[in-house]
Amino acid sequence: MQTAKSIIVRGRVQGVGFRPFIFGLASDYNIVGTVQNNMDGVSIIAEGDINSLDKFINAIQTRLPRLAKIYEYIVRDNELAGFENFSIIESSKSGTSSLVIPIDASICPDCSEELLNKDNKRYNYPFINCTQCGPRYSIISALPYDRPYTSMENFKMCADCREEYDNPLDRRHHAQPNACEICGPKYELYRIDGTLIEGNIVEHVAELIKSGNIVAIKGIGGYHLVCDATNESVVNKLRQRKNRPSKPLAIMAKNIDEINKICSFNIKERDLLQSIESPIVLLNKRSDSNIIAESVAPNLSQLGVMMPYTPFHVLLFNENNIKYLVMTSANPSGLPMLYKDCEAFTYLNNIADYIVSNNREILHAIDDSVVQVIESSASIIRRARGYVPEPITTQSSCDSIIALGSQQKNTFSIGRNSQIFIGPHIGDLNSVEVYNHFLSEFNHLNKWMGVNPMKIAIDLHPSFTTNELAKEFSGEIVKIQHHHAHLVSCMVDNNIRDENVIGIILDGTGYGTDGNIWGFEILEGNEGSFERLAHLRYTNLPGGDKSIIEPWKNAVGMLYSLLGERGKNYSKKLFKDQSDTINIICNMIDKNLNSPLAGTCGRLFDAVASILGVCTKATYDGEAAIILSNLADLNLINQIESYSYDILNEDNLFIIDFSSCLERIIEDKFNNVSNEYIATMFHQTVVNSIIDTIILLDKIDSKIVLSGGSFHNPYLLLGVKSKLNKLGFEVYSHRNIPTNDGGLSLGQLVIASKL
Ligand SMILES: [Zn+2]
Ligand SMILES: [Zn+2]
Ligand SMILES: [Zn+2]
Repeated sequence: MQTAKSIIVRGRVQGVGFRPFIFGLASDYNIVGTVQNNMDGVSIIAEGDINSLDKFINAIQTRLPRLAKIYEYIVRDNELAGFENFSIIESSKSGTSSLVIPIDASICPDCSEELLNKDNKRYNYPFINCTQCGPRYSIISALPYDRPYTSMENFKMCADCREEYDNPLDRRHHAQPNACEICGPKYELYRIDGTLIEGNIVEHVAELIKSGNIVAIKGIGGYHLVCDATNESVVNKLRQRKNRPSKPLAIMAKNIDEINKICSFNIKERDLLQSIESPIVLLNKRSDSNIIAESVAPNLSQLGVMMPYTPFHVLLFNENNIKYLVMTSANPSGLPMLYKDCEAFTYLNNIADYIVSNNREILHAIDDSVVQVIESSASIIRRARGYVPEPITTQSSCDSIIALGSQQKNTFSIGRNSQIFIGPHIGDLNSVEVYNHFLSEFNHLNKWMGVNPMKIAIDLHPSFTTNELAKEFSGEIVKIQHHHAHLVSCMVDNNIRDENVIGIILDGTGYGTDGNIWGFEILEGNEGSFERLAHLRYTNLPGGDKSIIEPWKNAVGMLYSLLGERGKNYSKKLFKDQSDTINIICNMIDKNLNSPLAGTCGRLFDAVASILGVCTKATYDGEAAIILSNLADLNLINQIESYSYDILNEDNLFIIDFSSCLERIIEDKFNNVSNEYIATMFHQTVVNSIIDTIILLDKIDSKIVLSGGSFHNPYLLLGVKSKLNKLGFEVYSHRNIPTNDGGLSLGQLVIASKL
């Protein structure tokens, strides 16, 4: 018996070959009817016998094209109209617009195959792409996503490409960057002095890299600096030239088998490596492998690894002997990723030896994303290429609200109807260049959305650059407390709505409602308000934020604040040549000069790392915490005792005091106890102190959210989570949104929508 259904599909279903996919399925299952794009997705009318129709409806969800993603799938009965065939009909302008701007996706298996197939017309063509792969967000100048509004507008398709583009059944139907050797963009290789080098570029680049050169290569979202990851001296040369002494560098490896020789990974990690987003995945190094130069990620047990994701990468790794390359963003220190060709030669002079450029313009810089898997769940450290600008859908309206994010790891968010678009990773808002980069990326995305900001959510911190940025807009400015934004960001990430939760928020620095620096917080709250229940005891932070790059000074401040003269004496024993500076620091604290009160997890980790002598000066953000976290033995999570600590109830606020823990750590250090043992005990102390506080708070039925940058630390995340689970709490950590300040703008925006 013939039956009719109407099917509405919402999500990433436009510009991803969805209509030809439906057309193909309809023919497989003898379905007649229509498929049509409208403003909020794809609408299908399907008629067929009931069995085939069921199979068709099921296959849409299970056999999706690689780039498509369904958020909402509605099937309703329809009246039989008696169609004779199945057809793709013209787009309709009906429905409320729910925008999805396509992401930049890694090269697909079909294109990889064609790229390396001598008989294919796109053999060796480094811009091969189709509806299932290639650049999108990075080349769009305006919406709708259509070739004239991309940086492909100047490349007129040849007759062959045009035919593919126009044919609804071709896998390049409406693939906007479609091109070939005849009509498309081209790569060029230059010496850094600007001399053009003729010949086979890929072969040439492979030779240059093997002979120890540093080559800047233009990719999807910007330029990478590339060199041989197995060659210690060239990696050191790159570090010197970039003035980046120890921050780990990411590598790209030829394939999964080659990755397996240097790092271990689980299924989740393998899937992420091979995903359309193709992020950098943090993997555990194999301790028995010495293939990769130690200076790629010195003193760390993890390595950031990604797979080739552009056709050019695939060709390069297809050359003999190219297996592991350092692939790091070519950004002048503290500045946005380099992506404009006109700037490449100037900035890269003295850094790169050669430049590989091309004439497909990048319109939006976008860094590689970084993801870490803890147990079997992924957590995003940097949300950029492949993830941006995929929207977050909320249940309530967030329309016309924008949020400007944090000072570090900045991202912004834009609310439109019930969708929130989180912009790309902008970085640290410490320079005019980054400020301008923020505005240019914001204005672009916002123009696409057509949002007129009525409310601008910013952090409470009086000296964050976002205070200045907010003045660029005319709407009402609302100030949101940093850790409240973290709490709500984690709620939204886990679809928790309209209820009070407990938030355990551990991070580096956030401005508190009392004017002090917060960052080791237990809060209770919801999207509208919060209350502080417990925090780490305040200690003086000599020099304020400046001490972040000199963790040992912060250790002195902490020891002197907590232990007085005894702390001063410990400091002098620990930091032997610094007696004069220690006297100055203690004086500053006595006189209350430029030494604000702080109670943060990040600074506590800094202090302990410098007491252990593993990081007295930080050369990159979070270095001390990362090194200390690497020392802790994950096999001992919740299996080891902890140092002692105190929890005091002061005016209905619980204060967690680490004085005795720090003293024990110093004694152990003086008694030559191993750093690994001390670091593990210290991690366990942080875990136990939080759990004991939660027990004292006696909020037994609450859901608990974990947020803040310190939860990238697997010991803290797993230790806290498993103990809370044992106590019967439902515990939530971040999934699709960074737990660090990269996720802050999302929380700010949702709070602003409730105010
Ligand atoms: Zn493809
Ligand atoms: Zn062509
Ligand atoms: Zn934070």
